Amino acid sequence: LVETSYQRIKEVDGDVHAFLTLNEEQAIAYAKQLDESSERNKSLFGMPAGVKDNIVTKALRTTCASQFLDNFNDPLYNATVVEKLNNEQVVTIGKLNMDEFAMGSSNENSSYEPTRNPWNTDYVPGGSSGGSAASVAAGEVLFSLGSDTGGSIRQPAAFCGVVGLKPTYGRVSRFGLVAFASSLDQIGPITRNVEDNARVLEVIAGHDPMDSTSADVEVPAYTEALTGDVRGLKIAVPKEYLAEGVDPEVKQSVLEALKVYESLGATWEEVSLPHSKYAVAAYYLLSSSEASANLARFDGVRYGVRSENADNMIDMFKKSRSEGFGEEVKRRIMLGTFALSSGYYDAYYKKAQKVRTLIKNDFDSIFETYDVVIGPTTPTPAFKIGEKVDDPLTMYANDIITIPVNLAGVPGISVPCGFSEKGLPIGLQIIGKHFDENTVFRAAHAYE
Ligand code: GLN
Repeated sequence: LVETSYQRIKEVDGDVHAFLTLNEEQAIAYAKQLDESSERNKSLFGMPAGVKDNIVTKALRTTCASQFLDNFNDPLYNATVVEKLNNEQVVTIGKLNMDEFAMGSSNENSSYEPTRNPWNTDYVPGGSSGGSAASVAAGEVLFSLGSDTGGSIRQPAAFCGVVGLKPTYGRVSRFGLVAFASSLDQIGPITRNVEDNARVLEVIAGHDPMDSTSADVEVPAYTEALTGDVRGLKIAVPKEYLAEGVDPEVKQSVLEALKVYESLGATWEEVSLPHSKYAVAAYYLLSSSEASANLARFDGVRYGVRSENADNMIDMFKKSRSEGFGEEVKRRIMLGTFALSSGYYDAYYKKAQKVRTLIKNDFDSIFETYDVVIGPTTPTPAFKIGEKVDDPLTMYANDIITIPVNLAGVPGISVPCGFSEKGLPIGLQIIGKHFDENTVFRAAHAYE
């Protein structure tokens, strides 16, 4: 399996660019060792997997797709999720491309060659976990890990026609995930089908004393929830999720999916998430504010490539950061620093926090009556490389349907629900209550 994985990477990755670093020698040696092993009872035994490059892997280069971390070849420890995969005897094939520091929706913000959509390489794979989604879609690995702060697992999963889950905030440890916006970041699996996704979540979920925001909530056997039975399931469909700006093709696919649910004995009704129109604005303020603090550690001393042209210490910090970070990362740091500066805090950050609470309340009140919320994952299928790269606001608007889920902290999955006329995948998003990944999986699996 592991050799096939590298074989496939050699065949297609010159076009797809999903991988930034390969772990070939170690992985093959490890796989040979596993071949000799008589104990094969682990649920992911020997499975070839890819890991997004903002998840720290011991002694395996971890760059966050940033030039600034180009020389971070020897991380000293594994992220908790990586330890958990290692305990299952998963084989790490390599590290996956992304938007720099997970900021972006198209992979075009990678400091390296951007990942391309395996369905049509003129199109973006989505982002920021574009490499994670493309590697699974292109058959290079059986599953991958991504991270989702504002849609970064679900949006690329939708664009690449694979299954991607953002778990409930706190469900999966963030220890060893390079922080972008700590109150939103969550690691999750990208897979070819729902069962694999449930299997991987079962392994990576759970309380971790190393992450104070990880929740001490028992991890159910997610695969047991995949009964195929959704009779009586109550589905809410927010009218804002099928409103103007959503492609007719996307809307059509979602309506057809709802028909499938009806035929399986579920019911759906239209509801409203009245504050979702403020989600993108609130998200970009909050996430950029948190990022401006989190990225302070990249200074050319503690982390990062040091500028060679500096005369003194302050100059060295400034030059290292100016030379090391890409455009989009600088834009976010500036926005966040501004929003947090004294005199502006109440007007921006605090206000955005209040909006966040309103959005969470919208979901809470819907979940008093309904089991899941269903809509599209993205307003459009994948767009062309270069199409939005010069217009950050249009790029940000692409996250309009995924972002409210992060702000509310609830789980959401994207499953394929058809193709556009151009042959590009469309994603259906299923959102559940806090810590109710079981119902999300059950609904996704019955439809799939
Ligand atoms: N498009 C979002 C952003 O650029 C996605 C971020 C994410 O989920 N990592 O911030």
